[in-house]
Amino acid sequence: MRTRILGSMSILKIKMKKEDKKFAEEMCVCRNCPSFKECKEKIAYCVIGKSKCIKERNGCICGGCPVHAKLNLSSGYYCFSGKEA
Ligand code: SF4
Ligand code: SF4
Repeated sequence: MRTRILGSMSILKIKMKKEDKKFAEEMCVCRNCPSFKECKEKIAYCVIGKSKCIKERNGCICGGCPVHAKLNLSSGYYCFSGKEA
């Protein structure tokens, strides 16, 4: 019984992670950021991971992004530091 409850909790967690990722990809404002560099990679670095092409820190607007608030993120420059969510 306990295993079944834990199993459904893991499925729920995976489902929530997928929904968070989808929301982040749709709402990410990285393209408006002075540090952003277009190179045809996926954005929403806070849920996807580091950028392969952003190399200079020219400011970060993560703090004003709706994803930052929704996922209770605490930092920025995810294109450099990688996932937080
Ligand atoms: S918090 Fe930053 S990296 Fe994450 S979705 Fe928003 S702008 Fe993009
Ligand atoms: S993670 Fe922050 S610094 Fe990097 S592109 Fe997005 S808003 Fe800009």
